[in-house]
Amino acid sequence: MESLKTKLFIISGPSGVGKGTLLNSFLEQHRDNVRLSISFTTRKPREGEIDGVNYFFTNEENFKIAIKNNEFLEWAKYSDNYYGTKEAYVYKKLSEGYNLILEIDTQGAFQVKKKIKNASLIFIMPPSIDELEKRLRGRNTETEDAIKRRMDFVKGEIENSKNFDYVIINDNINKALNELTSIFNKNIEE
Ligand code: 5GP
Repeated sequence: MESLKTKLFIISGPSGVGKGTLLNSFLEQHRDNVRLSISFTTRKPREGEIDGVNYFFTNEENFKIAIKNNEFLEWAKYSDNYYGTKEAYVYKKLSEGYNLILEIDTQGAFQVKKKIKNASLIFIMPPSIDELEKRLRGRNTETEDAIKRRMDFVKGEIENSKNFDYVIINDNINKALNELTSIFNKNIEE
């Protein structure tokens, strides 16, 4: 994969940090040469999520078969659900000439970096933990218990960000977008 001209960018950051908004704007501006990787998950779709667009929704049995068959570039279990990126899918997108963004957690990011050394790891940091919890509650999509578990997980994610190539603090969407754009431009030129 490293012989390809196109590059992989891994974006991690706690759920609710605003990754989605940031990435949508970025992708809009780079339609010609960037795609967002679609992961497989055993999580149930949230309202409005579409199979094959937001995720490929699958069940635990099929996910485990794919793990056994070594089909994943990386995978992780998170909040009782499995999430993973299929290697063949990533390779296909890169060979089609697209730089690919993987929006995955930090465990997955490190697994990818081990296999693909020129992948860039970018962490989107919330301006504060309190602010993040507020955003997560504002979504009204999770139970109290799920929010608690997610917030516990956030601390570990922030700790792991120390080993990332870049950290972007998302306190202002335009500023964060500019930072992401310059990281992207720098790495595709290399
Ligand atoms: P959500 O359930 O909010 O869509 O995602 C929960 C977490 O799973 C997020 O931190 C997201 O980045 C992560 N995630 C989504 N897809 C993947 C994947 O393919 N692999 C890994 N390791 N994490 C993923």
